[in-house]
Amino acid sequence: MIPFNKPFLVGKEIRYIEESVKSGKISGNGYFTNKCQKYFEDNFGFKKALLTTSCTDALEMTAMLMNIKPGDEVIVPSYTFVSSALAFVRQGANIVFADSRDDHPGINENGIEALITSKTKAIVVVHYAGVACDMDVVMGIANKYNLFVVEDAAQAIDSYYKGKPLGSIGHFGTFSFHETKNIISGEGGLLAINDGRFVDRAEVIWEKGTNRSSFFKGEVDKYGWVDTGSSFLPSELVAAFLYAQLEHLKEIQQKRESLWNVYYSALKELDNQNILKLASLPNFATNNAHMFYVITKNIKERDALIAHLKGNEIHAVFHYLSLHKSPYYTKNNTLESGQELLQSDRYTDCLIRLPLFYNLKVSEVNMISKVIIDFFK
Ligand SMILES: *Cc1c(COP(=O)(O)O)cnc(C)c1O
Repeated sequence: MIPFNKPFLVGKEIRYIEESVKSGKISGNGYFTNKCQKYFEDNFGFKKALLTTSCTDALEMTAMLMNIKPGDEVIVPSYTFVSSALAFVRQGANIVFADSRDDHPGINENGIEALITSKTKAIVVVHYAGVACDMDVVMGIANKYNLFVVEDAAQAIDSYYKGKPLGSIGHFGTFSFHETKNIISGEGGLLAINDGRFVDRAEVIWEKGTNRSSFFKGEVDKYGWVDTGSSFLPSELVAAFLYAQLEHLKEIQQKRESLWNVYYSALKELDNQNILKLASLPNFATNNAHMFYVITKNIKERDALIAHLKGNEIHAVFHYLSLHKSPYYTKNNTLESGQELLQSDRYTDCLIRLPLFYNLKVSEVNMISKVIIDFFK
């Protein structure tokens, strides 16, 4: 069976983990944590980068930093992972769901303004498949109404909008290094802070509400409880693994991109004939090859294609289920709703993700493509 995803080693992961154990410190905020954070700040222009144990944690930190309170409204696309909404719901926010674009699962920027009320605090955008949302439009709306912007860039490492790194444009960017993402550390994440006003408080929230970071920098002579927070920082073992991957980021991205291109050329003819839709990239966005997905005409065809692939020992998967129809949201939501999010539902029903991981072979991509072409014959 060709799996959908497979974790991989690319360099010195094991050696760095061993080094960190031998150094005598494997708790967080040490040598490898600093190496990783500096790498992100130097290469992607984030004002401050803080490693977290997940993208979910990074999103929760943004909710705390923005002081989201019960009754506040946060605009989130419905076609996304639970965490993009849950992180704000935990602070008491009401989520107002937005629809996706018809040419791409990212948020439909033109539908955002109609969702804003006097209670709106923030807009969360998700760069689905690592492909940028139209950030000029989003930032324009945010500035007009004085709202915060969080870029859920979980899938978007080393991807760009009009030349700007994703995660560096909004007030905050959040990344994931979960084993299914481009660079991995098992579980892991990053909070990118682009608005300098939030840096000091973010370090406190990161370290269980204490000013321990200031203490380590010699800015105060003892540390204590000064704010809200939690234990958001990962151990040095996670950072050591991650740093080894960062040393090979370019190579990882190139490999994924070349596999992505093999899929694209093999399946393009199906798209030309209107049999299957492939990803389309807006001209302001780059492709970091996080995902290769196809879109079928309806749910019946999608299920049949997934079954056909499975019959040929290939594990392909569908993706998100519209959050505005989830059991948790429909039970707890108190907002006036009843809004139809047709594109979100279409991607819920029709999108299939094909295997794409570092050690996948070109011959396997060709074989998978052939199985798909045969299905439509
Ligand atoms: C993977 C993912 C997350 C969650 O990341 P974790 O690191 O597992 O918390 C959140 N949002 C999006 C869009 C994701 O793809």
